[in-house]
Amino acid sequence: MRTPIIAGNWKMNKNPEETQKFLDGVKGKLPDASKVETVIAAPAIDLSTLVAGAKGEPLKTAAENSYFEDAGAFTGETSPKALSEMGIDYVVIGHSERRQYFKETDEDINKKAKAIFRNNMLPIICCGETLEQREAGEAESWVAGQIKAALDGLTAEQVSSLVIAYEPIWAIGTGKTATADQAEEMCAHIRKTVASLYNEQTAENVRIQYGGSVKPANVKELMSKEDIDGGLVGGASMDPESFLALAHFQ
Ligand code: 13P
Repeated sequence: MRTPIIAGNWKMNKNPEETQKFLDGVKGKLPDASKVETVIAAPAIDLSTLVAGAKGEPLKTAAENSYFEDAGAFTGETSPKALSEMGIDYVVIGHSERRQYFKETDEDINKKAKAIFRNNMLPIICCGETLEQREAGEAESWVAGQIKAALDGLTAEQVSSLVIAYEPIWAIGTGKTATADQAEEMCAHIRKTVASLYNEQTAENVRIQYGGSVKPANVKELMSKEDIDGGLVGGASMDPESFLALAHFQ
């Protein structure tokens, strides 16, 4: 049985003070970790506040990116080793905004995934197609290619423990959610891709989130689908009440 995983991705929003305010708002109200795993991915400058506030709460912490080297002359990058040492649990990698605006390649994402495992954290690996690709009937092969490249060289055990987030680019921040059936179809395809790259058991274990205009009003329907194990939520994760409503979708 896969534990559902509801994760907020704040993107480049909130300062430490606003992070503290959010944490005060959800304190003592999050679901039991055995029922739903909750995660917040916050900007690097907010992570100390996030880690301190998540202590004693059933809340996991995530960075929104990290570099693939542990240390060195890489001005402006964030060390996965330092993230791990400060108590971060997950790192989101391969978000479409990073691929699009910061020119991250599949190869970068694969190296980052390995660096995250090397530092005892878990990656949340994002994938997803553009509207043009979907309309051209290329979405499935594109996403399978992203998954294959991101997982290259990872063991079945590693893949069993990580999270994949399917985020169709046309549904991010647009208010245009993929229908639950469209989201399920692609999440099932991703699981099949993992089975073909590894084995049935690994595909059974890996958790797959849907992301793109997830909100309290549609989370229940999305989460009712067989292959959708969670949500990666931008806009609707920033307000404590809204995040709590998502976390308590059951
Ligand atoms: P929205 O929920 O704001 O559409 O963002 C989705 C997303 O990109 C999460 O990573």
